Amino acid sequence: MSYEKDYLSRLRQQGRYRSLKPMRHEGIYSFYQDHKLINFCANDYLGLADHPRLKAAAIRSIEEEGLGAGSARLISGHRESYDNLERRLADWQGAERTLLFNSGYHANLGALPALCREGDVVFSDELNHASLIDGLRLARAETHVFRHHDFAHLEELLKAKRGNGKSWIVTESVFSMEGDVCDVEALLSLANKYDAFIYLDQAHAVGVLGKDGRGLLPHPMPENVVSVGTFGKAFGTYGAFISASNVICDYLINTARAFIFTTALPPAIVAATLAAFQLIQEEPQRRQQLHHHINFLGTRLRRPLFSPIISILIGGDAKTMAISQALFDQGYYVHGIRPPTVPEGTSRLRITLSTLHTAEMIDSLVEAIDSARSNNDIL
Ligand SMILES: *Cc1c(COP(=O)(O)O)cnc(C)c1O
Repeated sequence: MSYEKDYLSRLRQQGRYRSLKPMRHEGIYSFYQDHKLINFCANDYLGLADHPRLKAAAIRSIEEEGLGAGSARLISGHRESYDNLERRLADWQGAERTLLFNSGYHANLGALPALCREGDVVFSDELNHASLIDGLRLARAETHVFRHHDFAHLEELLKAKRGNGKSWIVTESVFSMEGDVCDVEALLSLANKYDAFIYLDQAHAVGVLGKDGRGLLPHPMPENVVSVGTFGKAFGTYGAFISASNVICDYLINTARAFIFTTALPPAIVAATLAAFQLIQEEPQRRQQLHHHINFLGTRLRRPLFSPIISILIGGDAKTMAISQALFDQGYYVHGIRPPTVPEGTSRLRITLSTLHTAEMIDSLVEAIDSARSNNDIL
């Protein structure tokens, strides 16, 4: 048997085999074969992905500018609309400058190796997103992992491990699997104490948390911080942006390979993203509604929740997948998350909330989870 076949059959035995499901989506509903499901696993927190204003902006752009950008930003792929979006995002973030990337994955894969150089030391939260881990694998700096949100451990490492270059703390505002939130104030004071730089991935925070939904950093942004935001989540489109000082952004334009050696985002995506950005600012009620839902689910689960990502720990892989399947059969699309995405023995249901849910939907989901859990008790 080939290595690949063997590997796949082992995955199947372990209940860790993954496959793709072609689906159709309409607002908060997803359709798969003859199932109609309430989607509790998308990251379209503000319900913008099929908003008429985003669609109109994209259609207008396609009619005027066509589809592909044609080349990389540094060749002929740059346009005024990209500049315009970058300038507005920079103001919003309180940063000197913002630079668009093709996705959050590109941003982390490009910026970390450029910034975290030979002689630098990196301190990385153990639960960091795969794109941060991969970016650090490409970086020449020495990386040390600190226990999740354990700033005492981080401080020990900051004291003990000093390179001859910079120290970088690499972490997230909202952790994508746990849904827990970083104490950014404590992080900033630790960074200041040890003269360290912070690389903060705010993929799940921009548009959702902080004043005006701009994420968890102070305004203006401190000089020793590089912040990443993405458009694929709350913005409802695709792409990402890095906010930092002029010098850092200029440096990234000249050195970040995942920025330089890739075709620019399609102009229609940039146009739709600008429309999303305007809605995020004009309609704070979307964010407020989402926070009502977060609080309501917190009340139902009897624990405080801090973000639209809610992780319900189940433990075993098989039990997690059985509960997820039972929910699916009842019309709730909730993903089960297994290793290697999360550590061994911590398989879980991951629920994401959207402005488009209703309190009734959330309430009935909780009932369905409770009964699916007791029905699968023996697993
Ligand atoms: C989703 C996510 C990314 C990747 O962003 P894409 O734009 O989807 O590539 C990066 N970091 C974190 C923390 C994420 O949750």
